[in-house]
Amino acid sequence: MNIINIETFRVSVPLIKPFKTALRTVEIAESVYMKLTCDNGISGWGEAPPTLVITGESMDSIESSIHKVLKPMLLNKNLLHYESIFQEMKTVLTGNSSAKAAADMAIYDCLSQYCKLPLYQFLGGYRKEIETDYTVSVNGPEEMGEDAVSYIKRGFNVLKIKVGKDQAALDIDRITEIRSRIGKDIKIRLDANQGWTPKEAIRTIRTLEDRGLDIELVEQPVKAHDIEGLKQVTDSVETKIMADESIFTPKQAFEVLKTRSADLINIKLMKAGGIYQAQIINNLAEACGVECMAGSMIETKLGLTAAAHFAASKKNITRFDFDAPLMLARDLVEGGIVYNGRRISLPDAPGLGISAVYTEGGKGIESAG
Ligand code: MG
Repeated sequence: MNIINIETFRVSVPLIKPFKTALRTVEIAESVYMKLTCDNGISGWGEAPPTLVITGESMDSIESSIHKVLKPMLLNKNLLHYESIFQEMKTVLTGNSSAKAAADMAIYDCLSQYCKLPLYQFLGGYRKEIETDYTVSVNGPEEMGEDAVSYIKRGFNVLKIKVGKDQAALDIDRITEIRSRIGKDIKIRLDANQGWTPKEAIRTIRTLEDRGLDIELVEQPVKAHDIEGLKQVTDSVETKIMADESIFTPKQAFEVLKTRSADLINIKLMKAGGIYQAQIINNLAEACGVECMAGSMIETKLGLTAAAHFAASKKNITRFDFDAPLMLARDLVEGGIVYNGRRISLPDAPGLGISAVYTEGGKGIESAG
C-alpha cells in the first residue's frame, strides 16, 4: 500500500454565532483538507485548521509543511510499515502539529479501510457512541445566560463556559447568572484559556466553590508555559484542574503528570500532531490514574470525525468536547460521525467513514475512500 499522491484543498465556512474565548474571536472557520492516495486505490482524508494563537500555524504554513516537508517524505512509502512512518514524521518536522495531524489521520483512514474496520475499532473499539458538551462563548453575563438556556433546550446537559477574557470578578457574575438560569442538574465546566494569573485563578475558583456554584473542572487557568503556576492552582483548590494548552507532546504530558500539576488532561489531535502521539499521551495519563478529555479546535466534521474515532476507542478518555461542527453554518463532508443532540454515533463504514468531501466552497466534490 504505497502512497502515490498527496493533495490539499482550502475550505472555509461561516460560524452560526461568533466563537469567543480569552484568546480569540472566530467568525469564519478555515481549514486545509488533505487527501492521501495509495496505489491500491484506497485514499484517506485529513484536516488541519490554522490556530495561530495556540499552535502558531496559518493556512500558508500548514500547506507549506505538507507540500515541502511531509509530501516528499511520505511519497512511495508503504503504509503497512506505519510505525516507521510516524517515527520519521516526528523527526522530519518539529512543531507544526496540525499539519502533522492531517497527515496522521489520513494515514489512519487508509490503514483502517485496508483492514475493513471503522477507525474506532481499529484503535480499540471501546465505545460506539459518545456525548459532547456545548461551549458558551465569553460575552456579557446576560447574553451568556440566554445562550446557556438555548443550548439546554437543544438537549445538551454539560456546558463548557469560556471565561478569563477580562476581570476575574466579571467571571463570577457570568457563572452566577448561568447557574441561576439553568438550575442544579446541568454540569458546568470552565475554560479560562490561560486568561488568569495563578493568584487570580485561586481566588476566583475558591469564590465559585464558596458560593456553591458546583463547577466540575476548570481548564487551563494560567499561561501555557507556566507549569509551576498550574500546579500552584491545582494544589490550592478543590475543583479539578485540566491542562489543555500546556500539553502538546507526550514529554510535556509526562512533566505535568510527574509533578501532579493538573488533575486532568485535554487531548487534541491538532496539538499532539495526530492519533499516534495522542495515544501515547493517553497511555501515560492512564498509567498515572489521570483521566483525559478529547477536544478540538474550530474544525469541521472531517477533523472531528477522526478525533471522535480516537476518543471513542479508549477507556481512559471520559469527557468529550466535540461541539465545533455544530457551530458551523453547513457541513463540508458527507458521512463520518452523526450528531443527534449531544449524542455522537461512530460510523460503521471502514476508516473514518467519510463518503464525500466538498472542496472549494462546495463547488468541487471529491468521492472518498
Ligand atoms: Mg481549552
